Amino acid sequence: MASLSLKNICKKYPNGFEAVKDFNLEIEDKEFIIFVGPSGCGKSTTLRMVAGLEEISSGELSIDGRIVNDVEPKDRDIAMVFQNYALYPHMTVFDNMAFGLKLRKVPKEEIKQKVEEAARILDLEKLLDRKPKALSGGQRQRVAMGRAIVREPKVFLMDEPLSNLDAKLRVQMRAEIASLHQRLGATIIYVTHDQTEAMTLGTRIVVLKDGIIMQVDSPQKLYNEPNNLFVAGFIGSPQMNFLDAVCKIEGDKVSLKVGENSIVLPPAKAKKLIDGRYNGKTVVIGIRPEDVDDSQAALEAHKDSVFNTKVTGYELLGSEVLLYYTINGTSMTAKVSSSTSARLGDSIKLAMDINAMHVFDKETELTIT
Ligand code: ATP
Repeated sequence: MASLSLKNICKKYPNGFEAVKDFNLEIEDKEFIIFVGPSGCGKSTTLRMVAGLEEISSGELSIDGRIVNDVEPKDRDIAMVFQNYALYPHMTVFDNMAFGLKLRKVPKEEIKQKVEEAARILDLEKLLDRKPKALSGGQRQRVAMGRAIVREPKVFLMDEPLSNLDAKLRVQMRAEIASLHQRLGATIIYVTHDQTEAMTLGTRIVVLKDGIIMQVDSPQKLYNEPNNLFVAGFIGSPQMNFLDAVCKIEGDKVSLKVGENSIVLPPAKAKKLIDGRYNGKTVVIGIRPEDVDDSQAALEAHKDSVFNTKVTGYELLGSEVLLYYTINGTSMTAKVSSSTSARLGDSIKLAMDINAMHVFDKETELTIT
């Protein structure tokens, strides 16, 4: 398999639009790397540059230490799986999978062996004689994967491969791709705009915005230690709540004032703000819905950050409930146990877990603590 290196990669389209700006990333052999970000952030453009389908405007792309900027797509030893599968309708599953190998004049016996091996891995053995129209969406997607696998490429590139499938199939295929990655021991770059897909599949995730890398980290680290407001808001569902607060610093005591409430930060969090730079300034508090709770235990444990509010929305998810409310004019969400007695219209108390709180610089949007 292969390692990849992207150094100062930029893409400027002929109309002058800069879709990718100074992209730097080292991808190790066997990594499952995800490019995630909102529509238009440059995910596909970057992937297409790696594939050789889009010219690199400046910067250097290497595969296994060899610069490939000017290498033809077919000579890059890369296989790409797209969202629309692009299967040949008149060919059987076997022929669809064998097609690329036939073009390369691989001996017949070898083709048969490779297609059968891929069919076994993907559980397509019984479907080899069928045409694509006689397959389900998930099976078609597996054939598209099979076509990539038989080529035994150094790198797999996948551009939203599950976006055409219904929700249930997507979850199933997600698990299949994860196990495929393990079995093949392959290097995979996978593009999605779905943060759940990114979180469940990736060993590392690259979060992009406007052609710029916002953060590259493991799913856990992105969730727990976002570098900035954008990543904090993009990763996690429902989204992290953001709340303006005025910072007050007295000696080594740091408090954040939200309306009538004053939250005193624990020493570990306070130390990043203690230099006084933020005294009197507005900062942004970030708190995930799952870190806001109406239980008696939470109200007692986080006495300094208890807010009085009113339930403006109630959504039962099953074992949990989403409560909607406002604090100081800002709409917020809490994910609490479904054993809650809170109902629509009720006046309630909610406690924020101060230890799970993030604080961002309002101007730079970077994480302070
Ligand atoms: P999506 O999730 O919607 O597919 P993406 O993150 O993959 O989005 P890209 O397809 O990489 O985004 O596009 C990045 C930006 O470059 C977009 O603003 C898009 O409009 C622009 N773009 C793409 N192709 C061209 C082109 N040929 N000429 C000019 N601009 C382009």
